[in-house]
Amino acid sequence: MSITTARISSAQLKSAFVAKVQKNSDQKLLACYQCGKCSAGCPMAAHMDILPNQIIRLAQLGMHERLLASNAIWTCVSCMTCNTRCPKNVHIAEVIESLRDIAMRNGRRHEHLTIGDVPAETRAELPPIAMISAMRKLTS
Ligand code: SF4
Ligand code: SF4
Repeated sequence: MSITTARISSAQLKSAFVAKVQKNSDQKLLACYQCGKCSAGCPMAAHMDILPNQIIRLAQLGMHERLLASNAIWTCVSCMTCNTRCPKNVHIAEVIESLRDIAMRNGRRHEHLTIGDVPAETRAELPPIAMISAMRKLTS
């Protein structure tokens, strides 16, 4: 069964993980009806192992292991494009931020890249939002 067609049980909806993500992000996960507009506009989608709409679906389902092990929560650059595209006013970027926070509090970090791995000449050319996002994600 795919992520987007998996059924949601009442136990999943009431799980501590779902409650924490909703509280920390101040978002209502169930508002998402999986239209996919967030993923269609995400500039980083091609580099993600799961797409923004799938992140929301997994969060609805309380599938924390898969979420916290994904590279997508670290690949997101917090550009907020998804937030502006969502017809249900779900702030996906804040949900992803809360997932990064939970991951770091559980001792997880991005395994593939630190800011020091990026060559100085590349860092000089990166847009400020990328640097700010990286600093927020890679320093804890
Ligand atoms: S905030 Fe993250 S998930 Fe949303 S569009 Fe930007 S890079 Fe993609
Ligand atoms: S744009 Fe909003 S409603 Fe559509 S899949 Fe993304 S989070 Fe869900």
